[in-house]
Amino acid sequence: MAIRFSNINIGKAELENVIDAMRRDWISGSGDYIDRFEAALTQATGAKYAIATANGTLALVLALQALGVGRGDHVIVPNLTFAAPAAAVRMVGAWPILCDVDPATWTIDPQKVRHLIRHDTTAIIAVDTLGHPADYDALRDVAAGLPIIQDAAEAHGAFYKGAPVGNQGDVAIMSFHANKTITTGEGGCLLTSDQALADRARLIANHGMSPDRRYWHEVVGSNYRMTNVTAAIGVAQMARWDELVEGRRQVAALYDEWIDNRFIRRPTAAWATPSTWMFALDAGELQSAVYEALKLYGVDARRIWRPLSEMPPYETARDFSESVKIADSVIMLPTWAGMRRGYIEVIAGIVNLVKGTVR
Ligand SMILES: *Cc1c(COP(=O)(O)O)cnc(C)c1O
Repeated sequence: MAIRFSNINIGKAELENVIDAMRRDWISGSGDYIDRFEAALTQATGAKYAIATANGTLALVLALQALGVGRGDHVIVPNLTFAAPAAAVRMVGAWPILCDVDPATWTIDPQKVRHLIRHDTTAIIAVDTLGHPADYDALRDVAAGLPIIQDAAEAHGAFYKGAPVGNQGDVAIMSFHANKTITTGEGGCLLTSDQALADRARLIANHGMSPDRRYWHEVVGSNYRMTNVTAAIGVAQMARWDELVEGRRQVAALYDEWIDNRFIRRPTAAWATPSTWMFALDAGELQSAVYEALKLYGVDARRIWRPLSEMPPYETARDFSESVKIADSVIMLPTWAGMRRGYIEVIAGIVNLVKGTVR
């Protein structure tokens, strides 16, 4: 591939922090970089507590476990998303109940959530899809007190009604995978403003071991910790939060300017200030044509995820027409902070050519 889907943006401070952590022998799951990374995350999101984890998917598992979700429970999950939320539900022995998305935001549709809630529903997961926050006020209205888990893995730097994402649900998670806006290679975090929930999560993430009594295990736990070396990268990345968020926004602005206006853009709700994770284009019937043309020129663009309802572990026969429509038409274009203008121009040119040739 001549133009990759995503590239990391690692600076000098990231390298120096890693060397510093290694030199001082702080290389496992505790250390000052972890403390500083967690503090920076609470600052950036407004959540009171942050717990760094080995990746975002484990943070989702941890959130479910801290809420007490387990065998026999039902958790409502959007049908159009990267699969991690649905998989996390299955990993704790619960069952994901898929919900169609709202075409106005591509996020879980609160009115459809309302009709899916039953006596055994124990939580709702909302995903801030491709940087656009879900409608948390509307979700609260229909949730009847059920806890809401916010998956903000793709939404670093986005705002919901003027507040940074990461503090809208009862608990939120972020991912710092290599293709996410802020990255530590692999990594994630759990965010919450509920102290009891934060304590429970920290306990589970640390072997269930009492913070006051070594080798005394109060609950069944596991090891979900991020290493101090990884957090050292994270601390340097957090200092560049605005730069990295803005870098992707600039790429999106150029795509927006240079791509044929007959293509439909990602919708934005009036109450949302989305961030750009990957620039998404609604190519309609031309999705495959655009994808194939870009592939021919060595550009690693991606069709958006298929609806989970079509996949073997989550197969569901209900009507998911909005998810299907988006899955059939949207394509994600290469996006990263610091992407060369020339790349964006070439990609926009190929996309426009497809439109021009077909018309
Ligand atoms: C990337 C992502 C995750 C978690 O990813 P990890 O690779 O486990 O860090 C979870 N949910 C969504 C919506 C994602 O895009």
